[in-house]
Amino acid sequence: MTKYIFCTGGVVSSVGKGVTAAALGRVLKARGLRVSIQKLDPYLNVDPGTMSPYEHGEVFVTEDGAETDLDLGHYERFIDENLVRACNVTTGQVYNEILMRERRGDFLGKTIQVVPHVTNEIKRRIGLVAKMSGADVVIVEVGGTVGDIEAMPHLEAIRQMRKDVGRENAFFIHVTFLPHIGATGELKTKPTQHSVRDLRGVGIRPDAVILRSDLPIEPEVREKVAMFCDVDEEAVLPMPTVDNLYVVPLVLEDLGFGDLICQRLGLNCPQKPDLTEWRKMIDEIRRPKPELEVAIVGKYVELHDAYISVREALFHASVANGRDVKIRWVNSEELERGDSAVILAGVSGIVVPGGFGYRGIEGKIRAAQYARVRNVPYLGLCLGMQVMSIEFARNVLKLQGANSTEFNHTTPHPIIDLMSTQRDISDMGGTMRLGVYPCDLAEGSKARASYGQATVNERHRHRWEFNNAYRKAFADAGMIFSGMSPDDKLVEISELRDHIFMLGSQFHPEFKSRPNRPHPLFNGFVEACIEKATL
Ligand code: GLN
Repeated sequence: MTKYIFCTGGVVSSVGKGVTAAALGRVLKARGLRVSIQKLDPYLNVDPGTMSPYEHGEVFVTEDGAETDLDLGHYERFIDENLVRACNVTTGQVYNEILMRERRGDFLGKTIQVVPHVTNEIKRRIGLVAKMSGADVVIVEVGGTVGDIEAMPHLEAIRQMRKDVGRENAFFIHVTFLPHIGATGELKTKPTQHSVRDLRGVGIRPDAVILRSDLPIEPEVREKVAMFCDVDEEAVLPMPTVDNLYVVPLVLEDLGFGDLICQRLGLNCPQKPDLTEWRKMIDEIRRPKPELEVAIVGKYVELHDAYISVREALFHASVANGRDVKIRWVNSEELERGDSAVILAGVSGIVVPGGFGYRGIEGKIRAAQYARVRNVPYLGLCLGMQVMSIEFARNVLKLQGANSTEFNHTTPHPIIDLMSTQRDISDMGGTMRLGVYPCDLAEGSKARASYGQATVNERHRHRWEFNNAYRKAFADAGMIFSGMSPDDKLVEISELRDHIFMLGSQFHPEFKSRPNRPHPLFNGFVEACIEKATL
């Protein structure tokens, strides 16, 4: 019998509801329970794949090729389980499905309504995660905040779930924020009280309230919330902002939240909570370490959430190598106007992450040139691998005007070209080469040395690829195609032979990095950065 934990938000968004849900997952997993997590997103897009990173931040890609909310990245990093497409439900998907069935005539002349048809479809999708994962506990996070019009069907669905699965099998957590007023920093509970009232208004009585705050929370605040919101005091959890997000599971555990939930849900835990390794990791994160400065060159650098998995992967690899990573966010368009030698001066390594469209491309090419010429470690992720190839073609092979056909249809040297399987596709949503594909690694290469194995599986999200017509010229000039699809048709990794570490992957390794298991390519890159910093 699967137990459900539903997580809603109140007062304001972006207070770390996703991280809280993820951290709770870790707390339960530490008891030997099998955990899965799902996000319900109330917006009407089918998935965030077609949204601008400015709207939505990063698009996280699952093994099975779903383009999902960035919270799934937090979930995977915290619970260390691969999630699936069903773990991210949007209102768009729900309506898409229902309207398709309506057109097919499945509803036999009935009127289709939000209740029960939309709510039933949401419930079906929640149940699906339980069935597919076989988890003991499924944590379901509802995006947005209570009171949003678009979240109403989702709230109604989870309200009904409590009855469907039995009261004793569902637990509701409401995450709110305590603003503070004036110089005294007095924390205000009124918005929390109102938001709990809104939640009750739609028929949901929270079993626990998590209070987020930027300041320490006094015991009286906890008492007050317990009284006015009618929640047991032990289930009102103060959660001031912590120095690092991976600390959150420890905060929850130390507040006794894991035990409280297990007791309320009647969960039989296979073992006592064991967070020993996690605590060791936090000690290592907190230990003062020498700094390592790495540049991330992208066009959405003002919004760090757009590169959240890249940032986390760099952080994981740096901690594992005893370094405190400091990121220099470099706007690729600035590199087009300014002097790379000034803008990139002093960094120990450069990462060029994924991206789409022409804007800022020339700046990224300059970053690649800077890294190649000055022997600065470079890690190119998807688009970052493509610009590394374009730079090499232009400046080493002297192929003037070399480009990707994504940026110039009529380039005389289409180093990067549309994959043949992509040529006849006109729909933008969900049609890229997505999800996990195998990749064979060449013996003697840096990629192979980093991974320490011959074949790997990595997650993709792209339409363009390296043009095989240029493989020989590249190889002759010192580029090694160290990762290839098993049929030898698609270049998955290329790396420069005579360079400290200049490597690009057509896939996104950042999605598979974990705080306790840094990704091999990020590890290899960071090792090279440390070597460079001490040269
Ligand atoms: N725009 C490039 C492509 O579609 C790169 C995509 C990416 O970086 N994710 O191939």
